Amino acid sequence: MSYRLQSSSIIINTRLGFTYSPKHSSLLPRFTPRAWFRCCRSQIGMDGDDASKACEVVIGDSELLDRKIAAIRSAGPKKLQVIVDFDRTLTRYSIDGQPGQSSHGLLQQGNPEYDAKRQQLYEYYHPLEFSATIPIEEKTRLMEEWWGKTHTLLIEGGLTYDAIKQSVANARIAFREGVVELFKFLEERDIPVLIFSAGLADIIEEVLRQKLHRSFKNVKVVSNQMVFDSDGCLVSFKGKTIHSLNKNEHALDMAAPLHDQLGDIDGPTDSSALVKKRTNVLLLGDHIGDLGMSDGLNYETRISVGFLNDNIENSLDGYRKSFDIVYLNDAPMWGVVELASQLCPAGGG
Ligand SMILES: [Mg+2]
Repeated sequence: MSYRLQSSSIIINTRLGFTYSPKHSSLLPRFTPRAWFRCCRSQIGMDGDDASKACEVVIGDSELLDRKIAAIRSAGPKKLQVIVDFDRTLTRYSIDGQPGQSSHGLLQQGNPEYDAKRQQLYEYYHPLEFSATIPIEEKTRLMEEWWGKTHTLLIEGGLTYDAIKQSVANARIAFREGVVELFKFLEERDIPVLIFSAGLADIIEEVLRQKLHRSFKNVKVVSNQMVFDSDGCLVSFKGKTIHSLNKNEHALDMAAPLHDQLGDIDGPTDSSALVKKRTNVLLLGDHIGDLGMSDGLNYETRISVGFLNDNIENSLDGYRKSFDIVYLNDAPMWGVVELASQLCPAGGG
């Protein structure tokens, strides 16, 4: 990889053979790659060999992106919502050289027998989830089965809220640098952030509490919700199970009441109409399937940002065609913070 600064643009050559000359260099790396290297080193503690894996960004169609930025900016922040995946999008892919844990994977329910049973389910169903030969209807049925069995084990095994707190405290999970700044920026402008996940809302909320050390009134989690009794023991789950293959189907249904709670714009109306008023979307994900999170929202303009954390050489072409912006190498969130500031400039609407 080599970087070459020119007077008015930045050329980034990656070893993967793509060359881009983005006009909006500020979406890249804190304005110059050289500065970005320093940023990476100082903010996420990179040194030695890790520093050579500097963050990179790929923009497939910079003119289209420019048009989308201009459209969202001119519509103003009251028209914007942010939809974001949780695991490995908000959180880091790797921590201290080891894979970070997912919100599902970190849970130790304080009952080794039941932890082992859930692990056995994972080992059986996880390969089926990614099988290229199982038809989607069958796979959906299998995912419902897996989630259902897992939830039953959590209840039978006597999961408590205290065990969730302890699991999160012990977990190898961390947010990307810049997530707090992104949420804060959006909160100041009353822009809702919906975190969509097929995991467990109670765990995600606990991770937010423990790892961000503050709450944000604009951030809501759309995921499976637990019901605890007065002793803090899990007794049931609320509503329809959200699994990896159906999380997108529920986008509109689940987002609507949350927008309502956020005090959406222009006075009372039915909740689905409130969602529809936020017709511009900034979507963040780490899988191409995450693009489906905005299904049903009938958006006018969507800017999609993909985090490609693994298997880059094989996946980059697909990500570049699917997402407007792709960040590589477990990049921090600073580029998205900068993008948000372009979408909602100071003094704008
Ligand atoms: Mg993810």
